[in-house]
Amino acid sequence: MNKRFDSKVVLITGAGSGLGQAAALQIAKEGAKLSLVDLNQTALEETKKLILEAAPETELLLLTADVSDEQAVQKYVDDTVQKFGRIDGFYNNAGIEGTQAPTAEYNSKVFDKVIDINLKGVFYGMKYVLPIMKEQQSGAIVNVASVGGIRGVLNQAAYVASKHAVSGMTKNAAIEYGQYNLSINAIAPGAIMTAMVVGSLKQIGGEDGWEEAGKEFVSVNPKRRFGKPEEVGRLVAFLLSGESEFINGAVIPIDGGQSNQY
Ligand code: NAD
Repeated sequence: MNKRFDSKVVLITGAGSGLGQAAALQIAKEGAKLSLVDLNQTALEETKKLILEAAPETELLLLTADVSDEQAVQKYVDDTVQKFGRIDGFYNNAGIEGTQAPTAEYNSKVFDKVIDINLKGVFYGMKYVLPIMKEQQSGAIVNVASVGGIRGVLNQAAYVASKHAVSGMTKNAAIEYGQYNLSINAIAPGAIMTAMVVGSLKQIGGEDGWEEAGKEFVSVNPKRRFGKPEEVGRLVAFLLSGESEFINGAVIPIDGGQSNQY
């Protein structure tokens, strides 16, 4: 295994499940010290168990925090620097889908919650990590947008608004901080099979019909399948590894080609 992350420190939010967990595993196998943040302590413990099975030497810090709480974000960044002394990579990943409803019927409280987590959470993360990377004159950030951050998708006003905003904020920060040797990019995953997508399919097809709804959903994907979390994990590892330093301000789809087809 190529150890691109030897002696590097990587901070990951939403590390208890899905895309965050898969990236944590990939990056741990490549030698990183990891600071893992999630709202769900039990989920973080599960990620820790998987990492220590795959890469027993990994130095880990588990931090329970809500990314929509600015003080909690400042604290998870401070705690990481206190333990490891630096932050080389930041995977700003935690997010929620919200409910599915046409815009006129979209619940305003749910709208606020999605914006608080998906947009403000990503903003707070960058706000507190960027000064550390600027001081180091090195570092890479990957923010998580979505195909819904580059295209409209049905019935997800808040999600699409938040993810378009993440794409925009990424481009903006990339221009501001490129001169300090930082690389700031976003990824735009299509449907990747995680707990979030199962939840979304259940909203469409119900408890009994969600698997059928999933088959129908991917029947129009050029690859005819869902993406796998580990496929996204490998992209994130590349973007955080330092191998991709000149990629800056990009919003990179990883969707089997589906966003070209809408
Ligand atoms: P997931 O539900 O499997 O994992 C999300 C994790 O984030 C969970 O462990 C959850 O506890 C944590 N989390 C949620 N709210 C939080 C908060 N306020 N503070 C801290 N942690 C919180 O979802 P996933 O599919 O792995 O999604 C991860 C990211 O990828 C999200 O930003 C999502 O919008 C994005 N995304 C996912 C897909 C997909 O198809 N799975 C597609 C495009 C974008």
